[in-house]
Amino acid sequence: MPRFYGYAGRILRIDLTKERVRIQELEGDLARGFLGGRGLNSKRLYDEVPRHVDPLSPENKLIFSTGPLVGTMFPTASRFNVSAKSPLTGILGDSNAGGHFSAELKFAGYDQLVIEGRSRRPVYIFIHDDEVELRDASHLWGEDVYEADEALRREIGDRRIQTAIVGPAAENGVKYAGIYVNLMRPAARTGMGTVMASKGVKALAVRGTGSVEVAEPGRFERLVEEIEEEIYSHEQYWPRRRMGTTRILMMANAMGFLPTRHYKSGIFEHAYEVSGERLADEYNVKTRGCFACTIPCSRFYMVRRGRFMGLYGEGPEYEAQGAFTARVGNGDLDLALKAIDMCNRLGMDALTTSECISWAMELYEMGLLTKEEADGLDLSWGNGEAILALIQRISRREGFGDILADGSRAAAERLGRGMELTMQVKGLDLIMADPRGLKGFGLGFAVASRGGDHLRSEPFIELSDDPKRGEEMFGIPEATMRLAYKGKGKLVSYFEDWCAVIDSLEVCKNIMENMEILPFKRAAEVIEAATGMRMSPEEVRRCGERIVNIERAFNVREGITRRDDYLPRRFREEPLKEGASKGSIFEQEPMLEEYYRERGWSVETGIPRRETLERLGLGYAAEELGLIW
Ligand code: SF4
Repeated sequence: MPRFYGYAGRILRIDLTKERVRIQELEGDLARGFLGGRGLNSKRLYDEVPRHVDPLSPENKLIFSTGPLVGTMFPTASRFNVSAKSPLTGILGDSNAGGHFSAELKFAGYDQLVIEGRSRRPVYIFIHDDEVELRDASHLWGEDVYEADEALRREIGDRRIQTAIVGPAAENGVKYAGIYVNLMRPAARTGMGTVMASKGVKALAVRGTGSVEVAEPGRFERLVEEIEEEIYSHEQYWPRRRMGTTRILMMANAMGFLPTRHYKSGIFEHAYEVSGERLADEYNVKTRGCFACTIPCSRFYMVRRGRFMGLYGEGPEYEAQGAFTARVGNGDLDLALKAIDMCNRLGMDALTTSECISWAMELYEMGLLTKEEADGLDLSWGNGEAILALIQRISRREGFGDILADGSRAAAERLGRGMELTMQVKGLDLIMADPRGLKGFGLGFAVASRGGDHLRSEPFIELSDDPKRGEEMFGIPEATMRLAYKGKGKLVSYFEDWCAVIDSLEVCKNIMENMEILPFKRAAEVIEAATGMRMSPEEVRRCGERIVNIERAFNVREGITRRDDYLPRRFREEPLKEGASKGSIFEQEPMLEEYYRERGWSVETGIPRRETLERLGLGYAAEELGLIW
């Protein structure tokens, strides 16, 4: 077996249909071309999940990957990606989470875990280094995430195990169910939990006793020290430590892009009442970090009074906080915490859940949905009782909840109305930023390989509104100005490549990208010190570009073209009516065309050109897609 530094060098394959476990060597050329984590997953999905497979069939594969830095002392190297064809969107599905699960899987000796087939009975998978068992999980089926976690720890008799669990929502086939690690850290998006439950798997429980060896320990340690110093002295260190991502809510409101009442406005009159500042001052109990993290940005809260007194949990993060406050018109922070806690316990994505509910609320306001159709619930904005009732109903697929359990796009199809009001791209519901007030982000939502998502590009730099940065980086001052549209194609493709590298090294974007700690040049040094793979900064960026292109090829094979890369009509045709982004609309066409040209994709179809794929070593994808130019 070749010697791998940084990597464990092994892939664990579990065929549930045949109840067979195999350990394979990691392919060295894949590590070099796709780095790890998300990149490795996307490549394997392309190679092993054929076109038009039913996402909930045994032919779909559920793939977990760690990265080459995970398990080392490198700050924030704690994350994993889990990927499969998505039951929510029908295209590439993928989600990323932190916590301690990824490091434990690496310590057990695996870079990647590929779950195939379908079990005939409910099981959980217990991995203890080289021992891998499929154990009966009939007694856990139906338990919520917290209950199942506690039961597993008791049964295995080792509290140091790390778990990844699905809740009742996944078992009931809600198409946006997630996989939960560290109890409250979900890989929530695109329905990866739904795929896991469809395979009959309730949980993974992992215990590893190995370690990770790096290629150049002295150099690696020096790089870690230098990076840690930079993080500790960064101006964002303390705000992030105090509030995590919840600090964004007040800023989004001040800049006029906080999605309020289903994106009808960009400002929320109750913003302070539901803010990160209030959470920090009145609810927070302590901080907590992921494995090897220098900024423990996660917080534990407790509700100290009122009808939810005693409710406690980790987080929330901005997306969930905004989703159950401004988006649904709710100014009661306690209620929002209760809604998020319910989503976590039941195991479903808070963002998609809130999009479904806020979409229904808008239809109700417009008279397009009656109280009877909504199971007698009064869906007026901010009605807490209706919000909590709908979360429960969705998780059980009961009544109107059954209609919402497949996501807003499918709900509109089933109801036969409201499609234009669904705030989604390619079936994935949009995040908590109005693209009319943040246009680079908006372009990122339009073209992201997993649907309407910010984490594929997250061009945070446009929040600076600093034309000097745009001029320096792209030769276009407007590229880094949030309300301008020029230069966004260059901005988004650069940040997409960067995010693909960050996701494949499985380090945290909050720090490594948002705080500009790990640009391509430094990433090249870190990769070499950890793995021994020598790469120039340009080659590292090319890995990111290759990952973006293999993901696009997967989606093109499923039928995606330019016509799918559009934001909902509201953003393109209705200017924001108030706040600091007043009057702004999303100029889709020029941004999209600049992006395709920058990427080397056809402007007419949005499909990568043959020469682009061949330049990236993806000629086989060009062959399969039948590209003639
Ligand atoms: S910054 Fe927060 S989310 Fe990122 S690794 Fe650290 S604790 Fe985890």
